[in-house]
Amino acid sequence: MSVRVRIAPSPTGDPHVGTAYVALFNRAFARQQGGQFLLRIEDTDRTRSTPESEAMIFESLRWLGLTWDEGPDVGGPSGPYRQSERLPIYKDHTEKLLASGAAYLCFCTSERLDALRREQTTAKLPTRYDGACRDLAPAEASRRRTAGEACVVRLRIPASGELAFDDLVRGRISFQAEQIDDQVLLKGDGYPTYHLANVVDDHLMGITHVMRAEEWIPSVPKHLLLYRAFGWTPPGMAHLPLLRNPDRSKISKRKQPTSLNWYRDQGYLPEAMVNFLALMGFSQPDGKEIFPFEEMARNFAFERITTSGPVFDLKKLEWLNGTYLRELIPGALAARLAPFGASAQDPARVAAILPLVQERLKRLAEWGELTDFFFTAPEPGPLLLEQGKHPAAEGAAMLEEAAAALQDQADFSSAAVEALLRGKQALRGWKTGDYFMTLRVAVTGRKATPPLTDTFAVLGREEVVRRLRAAAAWLGRAREA
Ligand code: GLU
Repeated sequence: MSVRVRIAPSPTGDPHVGTAYVALFNRAFARQQGGQFLLRIEDTDRTRSTPESEAMIFESLRWLGLTWDEGPDVGGPSGPYRQSERLPIYKDHTEKLLASGAAYLCFCTSERLDALRREQTTAKLPTRYDGACRDLAPAEASRRRTAGEACVVRLRIPASGELAFDDLVRGRISFQAEQIDDQVLLKGDGYPTYHLANVVDDHLMGITHVMRAEEWIPSVPKHLLLYRAFGWTPPGMAHLPLLRNPDRSKISKRKQPTSLNWYRDQGYLPEAMVNFLALMGFSQPDGKEIFPFEEMARNFAFERITTSGPVFDLKKLEWLNGTYLRELIPGALAARLAPFGASAQDPARVAAILPLVQERLKRLAEWGELTDFFFTAPEPGPLLLEQGKHPAAEGAAMLEEAAAALQDQADFSSAAVEALLRGKQALRGWKTGDYFMTLRVAVTGRKATPPLTDTFAVLGREEVVRRLRAAAAWLGRAREA
């Protein structure tokens, strides 16, 4: 039987890094097994689900290259793939459970349930349904429903017994039935809860393995009972470790960005992001840290997944991203930079700057900040006064002299310009650091830039001379003030 796996995100809020993480592991397994990877939208929470959120899930997973074989937008033989379009299916299945007695109708009002919860909380008891409607005669319950009385459908959890499964990552996990609440399966509005819809869909969509985050483990006993009640074989189950903040708490947007949109907008490369997510719980047999998706798929094994919570470390991601950025050939890097401002800039100048910044770029969004002075002359300002130990008048004279020398310099290559300036520096008797830092600040307005004479060569003689003279004039006036 061919492997079929899925992710089942709920379309609420921004697309989450955790969705991409679980998608990656499922897709790697499907790829390795020659199986299918499905995307199902679990939009049964009517108040929180939005079409915008769904669209962002599609968009961000596509950006990462984590595409799916079947899903709401691409179709497939097991659709519809959006739970809100499957309501009659859940209704039919609930009727089967009612008929067999595996589920029952519950007419308790929300006031009664609230009061019950309050009592249990005060008595420091676990909050759970007390089973008031459990033993209503089915004919009576059905009559009340037909008469229009509001009700939900609940799963009848056995009074005792063990519910166990073998997690493909964690080994055997078991639960005691008495700890489990009679779960609502179908709400008053005809919408299913997560548990019912998830189990029915996984079965009808032929899912062979459910791989999802560890936080869903407590749902498994309810799912096992549902599989049993329907007479179905449960799929294999694997629970991936939760992603964690550096302080080891569950990843949350209060502590660091969790939206995939943020990572895209900051200019993390999709392939770096995928590689980073692969390192969250998975390791290669040879310990290698940099590898493409295909290599993950090749070596994927449930035994290679750890259970200890991997830390989502932005520093590590930045390092990985820098590594991927440095490997891009110039044309490819220019194309990646296009949405970050480069598309509106002179392509020849962009091409000339790229070799100077590629080493230092950690995120594409740094492009503007690292290179703006190549496109716009800086305003001379007080930073000039802070350079070196020389008085402003002397600084002005030095810059003027450098401008005059460069004006007459025919060969404006980096090496020739450097030789010329070193000669001038020696004659002036300034320290190398003072001399070149003053030139740097004069021409770029900043203290950290790519190698200085390379930068001059890209800017060209006229522009460099103009900027040096503007800075000299500013320093001259600063002396008078
Ligand atoms: N809708 C659940 C979620 O938002 C799906 C969990 C599962 O994979 O079963 O993650």
